[in-house]
Amino acid sequence: MLSLSAALTAELQAIVGPGGFRAGADIEEKNYRDMMGARAIVPSLLLRPETTGQVAAILKACHNAGQPIAPQGGMTGLVSAAAPQEGEIALSLERMNRVIEVDRLTATMTVEAGVPLQVIQEQAAEEGMLFPLDLGARGSCTIGGNLSTNAGGNRVIRYGMTRELVIGVEAVLADGTVINGLHKLRKNNTGYDLKQLFIGSEGTLGIITKAVLKLEAMPRSQAVALCGVGDFKQVAELLVHSQSGLGGNLSAFEVIWNNTYRLIDQHVSHLSVPLPVEFPFYVLVESMGSNPGQDVEQFVDCLGAAAEKKLVDEVVIADTDSKIEKLWAVRDGAAEVIGVGYMHAYDVSLNIDDMGYFGEEVECRLRAVWPEAVLGLFGHIGDGNVHIIINVGPDTRDCHLQIDEIIYQLVQELHGSVSAEHGIGTMKKAFLPYSKSEAEIALMRSLKQAMDPAGILNPGRIF
Ligand code: ZN
Repeated sequence: MLSLSAALTAELQAIVGPGGFRAGADIEEKNYRDMMGARAIVPSLLLRPETTGQVAAILKACHNAGQPIAPQGGMTGLVSAAAPQEGEIALSLERMNRVIEVDRLTATMTVEAGVPLQVIQEQAAEEGMLFPLDLGARGSCTIGGNLSTNAGGNRVIRYGMTRELVIGVEAVLADGTVINGLHKLRKNNTGYDLKQLFIGSEGTLGIITKAVLKLEAMPRSQAVALCGVGDFKQVAELLVHSQSGLGGNLSAFEVIWNNTYRLIDQHVSHLSVPLPVEFPFYVLVESMGSNPGQDVEQFVDCLGAAAEKKLVDEVVIADTDSKIEKLWAVRDGAAEVIGVGYMHAYDVSLNIDDMGYFGEEVECRLRAVWPEAVLGLFGHIGDGNVHIIINVGPDTRDCHLQIDEIIYQLVQELHGSVSAEHGIGTMKKAFLPYSKSEAEIALMRSLKQAMDPAGILNPGRIF
């Protein structure tokens, strides 16, 4: 057990003041237990700075003392990157939660890192604009966490991952140097794009304190369809068909495999599924545009043509808010399957033409070990991202490394990615070489060494 020196503790307390300092039993569970739960360790201290200056002073002091720090946002990550480890100080950005500016002319919003995603979405909507990042944890995750994990979500097909929704970032380096990259210039080819070092690096290269986010026009039309589809080849053809038929209006292409659809039907009691359970695949297609009457007509025509081409066997279309909500609830139901027991969840990326095979093969290999396994596949297939949920019995938690090995081995064979949108954290560390070459990992290590020579920032995450 590492213990903090009294001098460093006093110095840190002086930096953040009484409101920003917590120790021992005053540290709430939400600041050390993340969504992955089981790995909770209470941090040596919890610091809650209010300004970039305070973050810089904290890092400078910890850099000089060689004291490791675990930066944290809303603690909703799925790879245990933010949960503190033995001897670490937790640094929460929860008090840096101001929306600094919404600028309609440049279509940007400048925010502090601790602003919850939902607040950003609502603030943008108030100005008649859209911040397109959206994911289930919207109410509790924060933009700093979204940035440091490069979060994905449901509308990546149209707007890109978080990385593509940011113009400028202010971040603090491990030694306390502030890198002020806050600007609103969409075109800025002045050498390295430094903000990208902080985005998706899970707090290992610096701590993001502020960001300038890109806003989009608020769509004025929305239509959603749930389609029953006969095989994965048709799913892939339906994607191509929707891309050409809907053009820029295509805003989601989500797929639920039959195994997941049945789990939703049986285990998510507040839902009644709109299509019979017999189809091998269910595709949720969404269109959002700026021309209400015309967009819905285009959407209906596009799906009608898909039916004529026999790409879909049955379709339900929703064009009112309440009906749209009901169809999305079916897709969101995939994350609410309970009653089977603990479901271990996976997030991988594959080329779309490998995905049909992947679904069959992964089930086959898992069943060879656990014939009674309950598993389901679903995901953002328009972006090549598939999620797998699995329960192999009462000892699922103990088996997770064995399940990991089977799934990631197949992903490696297919040249996919062991992490599509959740990151690496501590949970996927051992499998990083399945998706990144030795040379790539060596370059990542050189960056880490250059930017955090004392190794204080989220050590042991990613590699
Ligand atoms: Zn997802």
